Amino acid sequence: MAHRIPQSVLDDLLARVDLVELIDRRVPLRKTGRNYSACCPFHHDKTPSFTVSPDKQFYHCFGCGAGGNAISFLMDYERLEFLEAVSELAEQAGVSLPQDAAAYTPQTTHPDLYPLLAAADRFFRHQLRHHARRQTVIEYLRGRGIEGTTARDFGIGYAPPGWDNLHPALSQQGYSHQALETAGLVIARDQGNGVYDRFRDRLMFPIRDRRGRTLGFGGRALDDTPPKYLNSPETPVFHKGRQLYGVYELLRQRRNKPARLLVVEGYMDVLALAQHGIPYAVATLGTATTDEHINQLFRLSDELVFCFDGDRAGRDAAWHTLEHVLPTVRDGRRVGYLFLPEGEDPDSLVRHIGQQAFEQRVVEATPLSEYLLDQLSAQTRLNDVDGRARLLELAKPLLSKLPAGAYRDLLHQQLAERVQAPVELLNRHISPPEHQPAVRSRAPLLRRTLPRLAISLLLHQPILAHRVQHLDALKKLTVPGLPLFAELVEYLQTHPHITLGALLEHYRDTPTGHILTKLAQAGFDLNDDLAEAEFMGVLDKLQQLYLDRYWFDKAARGELDEHELHYLRTLHRPDAD
Ligand SMILES: [Zn+2]
Repeated sequence: MAHRIPQSVLDDLLARVDLVELIDRRVPLRKTGRNYSACCPFHHDKTPSFTVSPDKQFYHCFGCGAGGNAISFLMDYERLEFLEAVSELAEQAGVSLPQDAAAYTPQTTHPDLYPLLAAADRFFRHQLRHHARRQTVIEYLRGRGIEGTTARDFGIGYAPPGWDNLHPALSQQGYSHQALETAGLVIARDQGNGVYDRFRDRLMFPIRDRRGRTLGFGGRALDDTPPKYLNSPETPVFHKGRQLYGVYELLRQRRNKPARLLVVEGYMDVLALAQHGIPYAVATLGTATTDEHINQLFRLSDELVFCFDGDRAGRDAAWHTLEHVLPTVRDGRRVGYLFLPEGEDPDSLVRHIGQQAFEQRVVEATPLSEYLLDQLSAQTRLNDVDGRARLLELAKPLLSKLPAGAYRDLLHQQLAERVQAPVELLNRHISPPEHQPAVRSRAPLLRRTLPRLAISLLLHQPILAHRVQHLDALKKLTVPGLPLFAELVEYLQTHPHITLGALLEHYRDTPTGHILTKLAQAGFDLNDDLAEAEFMGVLDKLQQLYLDRYWFDKAARGELDEHELHYLRTLHRPDAD
């Protein structure tokens, strides 16, 4: 994710927090030699495979490959987004992100909007309890089967009818019209004649972030007045493409990752499902599912079941979602599709058939693979060769989006069965994706090359950077991996005390960062005491490589004299590395 927090701020922050302490508060650690260990919180672990290094400020699991620094740990363990993890760390460390540092992101650009939104939230809730029309609203909720406790858990409120309710109340509390407008709560009248309330005579759903801060609102009409649903507009703190409804409420009531998440379209669906004993639903806010949604969803659970209306729009939305989901379906993740009967939404359906029957449908949701192949098969005839070839063509661009792994192999197998071709042929036909998304993969570690080995060693003992001489000569070698090695050496020569965890932060969410994390993890197998000797050995080999190239090029240009040629022949080693 793009953010603009200066690296120096992150360096400073990571230097102030202690990863061991941070993790130990959540997962009790035991000291084992130089490091600490525990059973891994990220996979079902019977032996302590999870190691935390206080020197390196880096954790690593030998079992599942999880690994990273304090920010990564908070993101994965507390299921926070990057910026949330950073501000959480800053809070714990007692570091206030400087004013301009807080301006990097929409979430912190306008910190003053949070108290204002919280005040609006209180106002709407107060109206639900005290407004003259409260009985009508409560009847409405009852009519939909929503009880008081559920309404309270979700912070439901009421925006009274009329143009001037919220804004005079908040003005009195000292909030300016300008701020109210920025928060999307009021709309400016023409010709600067003040403002009027955006939400009028609506049931109000606060949309909260993971920390429980209200970012915006959804308002549902109590009758058939269009629009049925009205959301806050995009504001500095509220972004529909990023926000999911119900996550705060979901996380508040459980410690563990939910086994599965149900993804629905509306807040009323989330509420109704929670009311009927299905508390693991979240909603997109009337927008198409975005990559950001999907990343967040998978951080919350490994199994997603997307709920769609059975109508045309629902089927289109389902296909759209598929295209976004495919690149993220790694091994261990599951995606299902639940199509509702025409005319039903999750809210109405759960009220009609009840929790058990509804959950039965969730369990029996169509697996992504089946949905994909069914959709494609429907566009062609499978009883002749041309049709099967066409299916293959249709499937190719989609399947090539899947990350490598057992899941992709399985899908290939299923497709092979449908087109009645050997799976080997299919594998050759469908090329692997050109670049993998920068998600942590549980795939085997990288092939070990000289520069990579050098990098692994360097990551674990940054002080070794000082042992590198002739860096300029090495930089001339066109060996893959060497430019990165040289970049790290140069940086570490001037920053010898940076920890591994902080160094990796410089490369977060970049392809290089992905490789470095893996190399750092590979480095855990290396013997620290032998690291220096090994590092010097690698440097020797690289320098030899440089010399070989140097002489070879010179010879190729015919610049060698008789003596040099003779000398080289006596030196020639057939397997110069
Ligand atoms: Zn693990």
